[in-house]
Amino acid sequence: ASPSSTRLDLDGNPIKPLTICMIGAGGFIGSHLCEKLMSETSHKVLALDVYSDKIKHLLEPESLPWNGRIHFHRLNIKNDSRLEGLIKMADLVINLAAICTPADYNTRPLDTIYSNFIDALPVVKICSDTNKRLIHFSTCEVYGKTIGSFLPKDSPLRQDPAYYVLKEDESPCIFGPIEKQRWSYACAKQLIERLVYAEGAENGLEFTIVRPFNWIGPRMDFIPGIDGPSEGVPRVLACFSNNLLRGEPLKLVDGGESQRTFVYIKDAIEAVLLMIENPARANGHIFNVGNPNNEVTVRQLAEMMTKVYTKVSGDQPPETPTIDVSSKEFYGEGYDDSDKRIPDMTIINKQLGWNPKTSLWDLLESTLTYQHRTYAEAIKKVIAQPITS
Ligand code: NAD
Ligand code: UDP
Repeated sequence: ASPSSTRLDLDGNPIKPLTICMIGAGGFIGSHLCEKLMSETSHKVLALDVYSDKIKHLLEPESLPWNGRIHFHRLNIKNDSRLEGLIKMADLVINLAAICTPADYNTRPLDTIYSNFIDALPVVKICSDTNKRLIHFSTCEVYGKTIGSFLPKDSPLRQDPAYYVLKEDESPCIFGPIEKQRWSYACAKQLIERLVYAEGAENGLEFTIVRPFNWIGPRMDFIPGIDGPSEGVPRVLACFSNNLLRGEPLKLVDGGESQRTFVYIKDAIEAVLLMIENPARANGHIFNVGNPNNEVTVRQLAEMMTKVYTKVSGDQPPETPTIDVSSKEFYGEGYDDSDKRIPDMTIINKQLGWNPKTSLWDLLESTLTYQHRTYAEAIKKVIAQPITS
């Protein structure tokens, strides 16, 4: 649909143009959401972040068709009094800002807790006080471990979906002990969800909570040593992309046995747009957003990415495709892991009629084509440089 034609919501009503205050708009999800809003809708975006690299292409030059509909405000929501005024200018607030990389959970536990709970608090409070609708980004990690993970390894009940499918309105949130600081992230996210929910219950805040299940695609995180710190540890897509680009073995943490379901960012963004444009159907709900059909172990992900990368790059497959590393070596003391993450899709299906479309193979093919095109030359140059001390 072109921005000028009248777009209709799921109930057939014309969609009014909104002003959206998007916090964390310069991140992975934010960049895709901004792109979608600019190319397919007539909504305006006040884009707040400390970085703008991932949305640079949307901000300049002035000849872009959406000129004037997106404005970037460089600010840190921790300590910037402009936040309240920007929220007041908007019809809807979307909060994406967070520290959400597992390598940080046990090495920067205070920053993780502050970022996911304390820094999100004023946003919730301002929205509640000024009657602004809020879409808050939580995480599938609030479910923690599955019930099934506590059953004996050979228990047939482990095959029963009742013991592993994660349901917004039924599943418990099961975290490990305090010294496993990975769960500080999940716990902070859980508490802010409870606070948003309570503001809805007591003060009438109109809210939607999103629980992303491993959304992946272009622009996710950074490639160490190219557009991020060389010692940095991004999420698995960027770690494995980096290894493939450099022709190194992919590192499997604790055997790579954990399971994940991966959804293509472009499918997931469709779900967010439905939430934005169908408030009557989305308000008061918590939504899992993932692709239950794309489940793999991390080891299988490594194997599939290696095959796909070999195809899209034309390079030879590496002689040693994977190596095992312990989580202690890779992430440090206090790391723990989610065992399995299958999202139940009943609620999002019923409320918004959304279903993910893209298979894991297809989403890896487009994503690794992007990675190769964006980074292969830069990596070659870095590798060719003599090491200077
Ligand atoms: P991201 O790190 O790419 O984006 C987060 C953005 O927030 C960054 O650009 C960062 O600069 C910004 N930010 C952080 N603190 C800020 C502050 N104090 N002031 C201003 N800006 C700040 O991560 P993402 O993958 O885009 O995730 C967005 C949200 O979705 C997060 O809340 C995350 O917890 C949640 N989430 C994402 C996934 C996923 O699969 N990508 C999974 C679970 C949860
Ligand atoms: N992982 C891995 N090798 C890497 C990076 C990550 O084996 O180089 C594993 C990690 O231990 C976890 C899974 O991949 O089991 C997904 O990690 P990610 O950082 O993407 O985030 P998570 O899904 O755990 O939040």
